[in-house]
Amino acid sequence: MQYISTRGASAPQSFSEILLGGLAPDGGLYLPATYPQVSSAELDAWRGLSYASLALAVLKKFATDIPEADLQCLVEKTYTADVYCNVRAGESADQITPLHVLEQSEGKTILLQALSNGPTLAFKDMAMQLIGNLFEYTLQKQDAELNIFGATSGDTGSAAEYAMRGKKGIRVFMLSPHKKMSAFQSAQMFSLQDPNILNVAVEGVFDDCQDMVKAVSNDLTFKAQQKIGTVNSINWARVVAQVVYYFRGYLMATTSNQLKVSFTVPSGNFGNICAGHIARMMGLPIDRLIAATNENDVLDEFFRTGAYRVRKSAETYHTTSPSMDISKASNFERFVFDLIGRDSERLRHLFHLVETQGGFDLSGRPGSDGDEFNKVGQFGFSSGKSVHTDRLATIRDLHKRYGLTIDTHTADGVKVAREHALAGVPMIVLETALPAKFNETIREALGQDAERPPGFENIEALPQRFEVMSADVAQIKAYIAHHTGL
Ligand SMILES: *Cc1c(COP(=O)(O)O)cnc(C)c1O
Repeated sequence: MQYISTRGASAPQSFSEILLGGLAPDGGLYLPATYPQVSSAELDAWRGLSYASLALAVLKKFATDIPEADLQCLVEKTYTADVYCNVRAGESADQITPLHVLEQSEGKTILLQALSNGPTLAFKDMAMQLIGNLFEYTLQKQDAELNIFGATSGDTGSAAEYAMRGKKGIRVFMLSPHKKMSAFQSAQMFSLQDPNILNVAVEGVFDDCQDMVKAVSNDLTFKAQQKIGTVNSINWARVVAQVVYYFRGYLMATTSNQLKVSFTVPSGNFGNICAGHIARMMGLPIDRLIAATNENDVLDEFFRTGAYRVRKSAETYHTTSPSMDISKASNFERFVFDLIGRDSERLRHLFHLVETQGGFDLSGRPGSDGDEFNKVGQFGFSSGKSVHTDRLATIRDLHKRYGLTIDTHTADGVKVAREHALAGVPMIVLETALPAKFNETIREALGQDAERPPGFENIEALPQRFEVMSADVAQIKAYIAHHTGL
């Protein structure tokens, strides 16, 4: 299988060739030249598989240049009950992504698929744990090393660190804004004692951290010399790893391939729901894919109006579902490419408009940039929005009705799912984090703390290891070079 760039000006590459990289050289995002298809007979055969075996069945359609036996070792090492052990009472860790019925009324069924049972209690572990093993495997084969450099405001950085800790040939340098993360999030990252994990707390805000990452990445000589890479949400392997749990959710919710299901996905950078789009393009019987946003409603606006209008930093709100606080959705370009019939020239034009005019409009209205918004329904997409008061009300309602506490991002999903559920089509809400991660808002909603999984009770009291630094590019470069010895 070959991968092409959405912008059409980079040479096709294999899975292994794009694994360690980010953007294509032409600034586009990689996608398979054609989507592999799944037949109904295959789907039937997949019904009885363990999560790891299902992951192998899906991944081998994409990672065609990795020997199947190696891929099998990697998924069996990744998708174990030991790694995804932070289950709720009544859930089995063997399921990896346990699925429950949340509520049923008037023929409508809403289910919750737990994706947050991994080491950092958020769905990013589903893909990142596999990436850690894939990177280690690939680097070992090439006898190479990689220094991952990134910035985080919480979830991504910790998922990356827990995936890369102790991995041969890999170091992680992670910037975070000093004293701006929750006590739980800082403790999760800073309590890691692995020598290959290096946390730097920057005296500034998240944007300062991100500016430092950009400045270093733009210094191509330094980047090459220090073997610097990233694992941000546009990484293709992360998207593919996420495709697996859409198949899993479908197979667990249905008994026959004649049935369809829909998914509601708490969305920020469009990475999670992009995997749902790919599963649907492969032939998984998904009726609708519903993007649930918070107050930062770039995506909801597009799916309601056809206008994609990215926000400025000052227009990006800090909300109580902070992992969805984005100004532009970095994976959205993948969907737009398919929506406009994979026309790279038009895609380049549209994303040039994003740079120059802050967005584009596909509504077909006079003066707009195209009319493909009328095709959005064929791709199953729809959307909704949930704000702070909705979030609190949903958390309280589920706690009162079912004795279940859910996190703030998942609450945005449940609110939107309830608005979109149809009789006869099961609606699966993806649970993207456990409530313990966002306890401040759980207290606000319920007046009590979220339950912590065993082992996390006293995490804030563990010894912490991190470096405090001013927002100084020369200083971080010196720090990196000192630790790599390159
Ligand atoms: C990252 C994240 C999201 C958003 O996922 P995208 O792939 O960026 O759309 C939602 N919820 C939680 C808890 C997250 O960590």
